[in-house]
Amino acid sequence: MTTRAADVYRVAVVGAGPSGLFAAQALVSQDRLPVEVDLYDRLPTPYGLLRYGVAPDHPNIKAVATALQKVFDAPGIRFHGLVRVGEDLSRDEMLSAYDAIVYAVGAAADVAMGAPGEELPGSISARQFVEWYGGHPDASPHDLGTTTGAAVVGLGNVALDVARVLVKDPEALAVTDMPDDVLDVLRASAIDDVWIVGRRGPAQAAFTTKELREILELPGVEVTVNPDAFDGIDDATLDRRCAANVAALREAATRAGHAADGQPDLAAGVDPVVTSRPARRLHFLFWRRPVRLEGTDHVESFVVERTRVEGGRVVGSGQEDALPVQLVLRSIGYRGVAVPGVSFEPVDCVIPNREGRVVGEDGLVAAREYVVGWIKRGPTGVIGTNKSDAAQTVAHLVDDLTGTPPLASRVEVAGLLAARGVQPVSFEDWQRIDAEEVARGQAHGRAREKVATWAELRALVAHEH
Ligand code: NAP
Repeated sequence: MTTRAADVYRVAVVGAGPSGLFAAQALVSQDRLPVEVDLYDRLPTPYGLLRYGVAPDHPNIKAVATALQKVFDAPGIRFHGLVRVGEDLSRDEMLSAYDAIVYAVGAAADVAMGAPGEELPGSISARQFVEWYGGHPDASPHDLGTTTGAAVVGLGNVALDVARVLVKDPEALAVTDMPDDVLDVLRASAIDDVWIVGRRGPAQAAFTTKELREILELPGVEVTVNPDAFDGIDDATLDRRCAANVAALREAATRAGHAADGQPDLAAGVDPVVTSRPARRLHFLFWRRPVRLEGTDHVESFVVERTRVEGGRVVGSGQEDALPVQLVLRSIGYRGVAVPGVSFEPVDCVIPNREGRVVGEDGLVAAREYVVGWIKRGPTGVIGTNKSDAAQTVAHLVDDLTGTPPLASRVEVAGLLAARGVQPVSFEDWQRIDAEEVARGQAHGRAREKVATWAELRALVAHEH
């Protein structure tokens, strides 16, 4: 234990993704309490989903990272990468070192379909696929050289992201920060057909219209929509986003024409736009739910069932279609993971809270513990949503600490980590990774190329320790 004379509150933010960064920013920009912030992340790199989740071909959203980078210019903020809170440091140790903890750990796992055959090679989560093309060091390599068909399950923006990467001209992706080996795999991809499979209709789809229009208008991609997709839509009841989605899909369907039996029209002609590779086909298949994945040692076919809504619930009709695919990407939601020792609600997979104040297993508010982002409210909202979300939590935190003095003595975290052989990474260490990525990118005429392996990341930050 050490004694600190300074009248400064110390707050740990666990997770340096958008929600953690917005929380840190809110903490150092308020003027009611003097606060220093230690930002922890298990990775050696800050920015979380901004770096690894936002699609590489959406640089405008990634530019938020540039704005959030300024958070680290504040004198009271320090970055500690390569530290796993809950494992390298326990919750109790953190509470002995900090006046408050803000958990901003996101939603690190994904939801399973529960369909037989889901465990077959060729069936993966969109999260894993996004990690791969985003250059995340935990990602496994993929090979699309023998994949001619792929299905993406779900009607959210993540589904559109992964489908777009599969059908888009790889040369249009070659300007992004994708690792070179990922681009090589996409260039060698044999994919002709991609299905986006939704258990409900165009009027219920979760994706935003901007993202939908983007994929509908991709050069060299021929879009089809199943003819029964639009059955039963009551246009008068739709909100603006849903009405715009339906209109965009109707227009795409009119452009494409339909197969008479409701199956995607695989015999349709190619798009006249000339690109560097043959056209690919993108089929929206609404009102279909996953039934099973078939294949002996790899996915060979994906069986889906026609659905309808009965009493507000999606039910099957018994009518099945088999899609000839070797890759099935489930994109049906993310799921939060418990931080060891910290209260957790296993149904919604969040840290239970009241407006960001953590609620313990006894149902009472836990002193000095707070939560922001997807682990607070579930995996919803766009990046900007995290700003107001963090403001709410930080306002409560500041209210709660006001009138209580900072801890008189604190456990020294650095000593605990050193004794455990954990060497944290500083913001300056990360800047070496950053500089290397920019240099690699410039060598290939692009702004950045990701360093995508643990070995390389560790090597880049190792020599100062
Ligand atoms: P999402 O928007 O919640 O969409 C999940 C989809 O999965 C829904 O269509 C849902 O259908 C479907 N689904 C759930 N369980 C299913 C099941 N068992 N079988 C079949 N379908 C099932 O989630 P997300 O796409 O993962 O996105 C997460 C958040 O990140 C969203 O807020 C999204 O907007 C945001 N995001 C934004 C961007 C961007 O702004 N460009 C990019 C990526 C992500 P039902 O509606 O029928 O349940």
